[in-house]
Amino acid sequence: MACVSFPYDAPVSQTLFDRASLVTPGGVNSPVRAFRAVGGTPRFMVSGTGPYLTDADGREYVDLVCSWGPMILGHSHPEVIAAVQEAVARGTSFGTPGEGEVALAEEIVARIEPVEQVRLVSSGTEATMSAIRLARGFTGRAKVVKFAGCYHGHVDALLAAAGSGVATFGLPDTPGVTGAQAGDTIVLPYNDLEAVRTAFAAHPGEIACVITEASPGNMGVVPPLDGFNAGLKEICAADGALYISDEVMTGFRTSKAGWFGIDGVRPDLMTFGKVMGGGFPAAAFGGRADVMAHLAPVGPVYQAGTLSGNPVATAAGLAQLRLLDDAAYAKVDAVSAEIRSLVSEAFTKEGVAHTVSSASNMFSVFFTDQPVRNYEDAKKQEAFRFTAFFHSMLAQGVYLPPSAFESWFVSTAHDARAVERIAAALPAAARAASEATA
Ligand SMILES: *Cc1c(COP(=O)(O)O)cnc(C)c1O
Repeated sequence: MACVSFPYDAPVSQTLFDRASLVTPGGVNSPVRAFRAVGGTPRFMVSGTGPYLTDADGREYVDLVCSWGPMILGHSHPEVIAAVQEAVARGTSFGTPGEGEVALAEEIVARIEPVEQVRLVSSGTEATMSAIRLARGFTGRAKVVKFAGCYHGHVDALLAAAGSGVATFGLPDTPGVTGAQAGDTIVLPYNDLEAVRTAFAAHPGEIACVITEASPGNMGVVPPLDGFNAGLKEICAADGALYISDEVMTGFRTSKAGWFGIDGVRPDLMTFGKVMGGGFPAAAFGGRADVMAHLAPVGPVYQAGTLSGNPVATAAGLAQLRLLDDAAYAKVDAVSAEIRSLVSEAFTKEGVAHTVSSASNMFSVFFTDQPVRNYEDAKKQEAFRFTAFFHSMLAQGVYLPPSAFESWFVSTAHDARAVERIAAALPAAARAASEATA
């Protein structure tokens, strides 16, 4: 790690990290949490309230990760906590159908018009994995088109150019994924409809589906160019392939109806997670009723889950969604805009080349003044500046995603006091970014 010093320590987090590293690979249960991209000791959090997190050393941070999106009402929202407590008191899992999962499915179907039927699962990974299986089962075709830099969870077939590694034609990014598992995956550059047309022309009648993040947030925030999603839909429809919009990150965050509520392009299948679980493991896939009818027990495509539709998770998700009305989204959008302009102002003042890229209330900073339209563009940024920026913000009590290739997230709980704390930290952090060397 070049030239970054850590004048602040976190002894309790360090002790916990040492303990964790003995019993868990890298000390974490999801790699990005280990701070490897930025160096230093990951903070072990003990509590969260509103826009704040408190770590094991008793330090409070303004949280701009929001659990990678789910905590759109802030931490420990009283109505969500009450719904969870009420559900827990009735028991935690029955392995039978229950009313909570019906109500959550009804809420999703009511909000998102293309979703005629939905099935609940426990993670976004499971949602995309199941949607791909269903698309293959429905079409009787094998090939899947995905885009470099788009992440769809750690599904074997989709771990090709998944936000890191090399954007290669059908080569897996990770050992453990065989050539056969990734061999039917066609990886194309994002925002490039010509590449999609060429792939369909090369494999007519062989492509089961195109899966894309509705608006990508896993290579930093890189929104679709005007007409891109509509073009995907059109190309798929012409060939008999399905268009799958992965809204695990954007769903119920970018608007009441997610990214669909913004661009109105009607997918055949959609996937959801993050916000819809209210901080619990709940996710979903859904879409056209005639396609969903291919799922067991109605149809032949198998899919199942011991904890699918879990009563505590569905209670949390439902409570959160019911609080997410137009006023809530207006609030999140406004605070996002406010923080974006503060960030840009601070970098401009220090002469740091940057682009604040946003998609509704999701945003991230690219350390470049060139346009970022795909993963190749994103990788050209001066990511070393982010490391210096990140640690300065952390030392001043602002918790950013520990990577230059992640979206930042805000919530309805990010009030004037939280914004002031971010504003107060920015000048020194922007200076650190400007002084950083590769
Ligand atoms: C987070 C994410 C996933 C994976 O969800 P998990 O719950 O982490 O398995 C899939 N797709 C997108 C777009 C995501 O952002």
